[in-house]
Amino acid sequence: MKKHPHYGHVIKSRVSSALWQAIIERCQRTGETPDHVIQSALAVELDITHHTLFQVSTSTALVQGIYNGCMTVAEIKKHGDFGLGTFDELDGEGIMLDGEVWHAKSDGSVAMAAESELAPFWATTTFVPQVSCTLSAVSSWDDLCHQLDKLRSSQNIFTSICIKGVFKHIQYRVACKAEQGTDLVSATNNQAVFELNDCSGTLVGFWTPAYAKTLNVPGYHLHLLSDDKRSGGHVLSLSADNLELMLAEETDFKIALPESVEFLQADLSIDPSEALAKAEGAK
Ligand SMILES: [Zn+2]
Repeated sequence: MKKHPHYGHVIKSRVSSALWQAIIERCQRTGETPDHVIQSALAVELDITHHTLFQVSTSTALVQGIYNGCMTVAEIKKHGDFGLGTFDELDGEGIMLDGEVWHAKSDGSVAMAAESELAPFWATTTFVPQVSCTLSAVSSWDDLCHQLDKLRSSQNIFTSICIKGVFKHIQYRVACKAEQGTDLVSATNNQAVFELNDCSGTLVGFWTPAYAKTLNVPGYHLHLLSDDKRSGGHVLSLSADNLELMLAEETDFKIALPESVEFLQADLSIDPSEALAKAEGAK
């Protein structure tokens, strides 16, 4: 495992005495380093949210069938360049990589999503890898989860995951359009399942702590986008050798809640664990 404690670039810059004084005062007050203060201030000024996971709606809302899109792709892109989600009416799977959003549909096709497309659920971050290493052999989904478990430092921090390589075998699903109000387990009973051999591509996704199960899918959640951008979906199982893995821990969490009547009146007090395991895991 290779860590990158000094990831980034060194800037030499002249600042006014007043600014310098303010930086020093902040450091003394909060215990932050000057690097951290300057980095945070620049991130705010330049609209970059560092190590922030931004999410639209909640996993329980999805379980309860709240599929009407509430945020556009254009708006989501303001909050990150990497992530996953789904589209209006649970129409397929979304993959966000290098700032581009791709829409995988249940007929097996993939197209770049229009800026105006709406998402009922999405998670995104500006991906800055903190750990990178090679996974020499992955025999199954459970094996992958087990290997990733050993690389995460805590059970309590959201983790962004990017995996690149050639998948000897990969099985993935794409949700089919569903009526608003159809619960997620019933809706994903109609999912389209695809399998590919020797697929060169990227897996994009997150690990979510168990305590956040009402907000996002607990555990590992990865979406595939093939390098030729012709295949993609929600990963169910896989095997591969020599995968390139990058991880980033996300310590800030922001959530945008829908203001639709359906969301405002839904019962979101349930425990969605069982339904999420059924809907998002292998059938
Ligand atoms: Zn998914």
